[in-house]
Amino acid sequence: MISLSNRINSLAESETLAMAQKSRELKSRGFDVINLSLGEPDFFTPEFVKEAGINGIKENHSFYTPVNGYLELRQSICKKLERDNKLRYTPEQIVVTTGAKQALYNALMCLVNPGDEVIIAAPYWVSYRDMVQLAEGQAVYVYAGIEDDFKIKPHQLEAAITPKTRVFMYSSPCNPTGSVYTESELQELAKVLEKYPQITIIADEIYEHITFSGVHASIAAFDAIRDRVVIINGVSKGFAMTGWRLGYLAAHQDIAKACTKLQGQITSGTSSITQRATIAAMDANPSVTAHMLEKFRERRDLLMELVRDIPCFIINKPEGAFYLFPNVKAYFGKSDGDYHIKDAPDLCMYLLEKAQVATVAGDAFGDKDCIRISYATSNQLIIEAVKRIKECLARLK
Ligand code: PMP
Ligand code: GLU
Repeated sequence: MISLSNRINSLAESETLAMAQKSRELKSRGFDVINLSLGEPDFFTPEFVKEAGINGIKENHSFYTPVNGYLELRQSICKKLERDNKLRYTPEQIVVTTGAKQALYNALMCLVNPGDEVIIAAPYWVSYRDMVQLAEGQAVYVYAGIEDDFKIKPHQLEAAITPKTRVFMYSSPCNPTGSVYTESELQELAKVLEKYPQITIIADEIYEHITFSGVHASIAAFDAIRDRVVIINGVSKGFAMTGWRLGYLAAHQDIAKACTKLQGQITSGTSSITQRATIAAMDANPSVTAHMLEKFRERRDLLMELVRDIPCFIINKPEGAFYLFPNVKAYFGKSDGDYHIKDAPDLCMYLLEKAQVATVAGDAFGDKDCIRISYATSNQLIIEAVKRIKECLARLK
């Protein structure tokens, strides 16, 4: 019998990845599954980015890079932050990571001591909870429901702060709700955080480029807390580069140094070729990805329109990312005679087995009444998926 650590035994599997794997397996067994579980753009990486990667190979960028990333790339990221976000950073404040996931993990491991409290705005992206657990921190959830467009209020944040609070973290645009905090909403949160200098803010901005208003606000814009903000971003979503594995963080130099030390012991940084390709992505005019944003907007509108016909789905209007997060509570306690739906995981399994549409239960994101539907797929598949979902749900009495 192999004995594994308590750390890994108590860690949950990533539910987004697990659902995607389940749907791949069903597909490979011949089932016609429509996978709306994984948050991954269905576009190909832009040609000019691919070419920069190919050139990186041809030009023999095959050696270890600096642990925090090529200087040229960190300079390009600084230029991007200034151009798009009006934020000034130096290359020493940037750490290039193996996906935004590792940027988040680095930050938590460097900031959180065992027992420290980490306030997470809920609904939250699934891995926050488990990363906090790995850092031996204590997650404290501040929840906002659909009636508040899933956005927390300053007084809620303040009520959750204790002397043990070390970190506050959130994503905007938000995975799983698609909600986007406006500049004035962030300012209100910043005013609270200003009073608590022991708190560092982890602002996950990975969906920055998928904001339908075209305006992305960063909490790092507020000078009073600026030094305590860790911006998380990357190319997975905005540039359709999920498999390339590149994220980055921008933070106070001491935090950046700590994160570099950490990844120097575990990854030595991300792939050199990916870094060469990302220089091209960072240097490009943001309009190069506008066609993807337009498609996502079209799909959001289509999905919202179709879902309105499903009597018991309650929805908000997502202003960013590519998820819809309907409240499906009205189906709990119903049955099609054979399948009894107690909760959201049951409903997701029912939809997977009977409609062959993969979604993710809200439990993974801190809201037991919802399910997450990713619309990063074609109009045709969205139409077919909703048709199947509707037919299956109509059988529940
Ligand atoms: N943050 C959020 C909110 C996400 O949805 C994701 C999804 N992948 C990540 C971070 C991680 O991104 P990456 O693929 O760059 O690791
Ligand atoms: N962020 C995506 C999602 O939420 C990718 C899956 C993952 O990295 O967990 O589906």
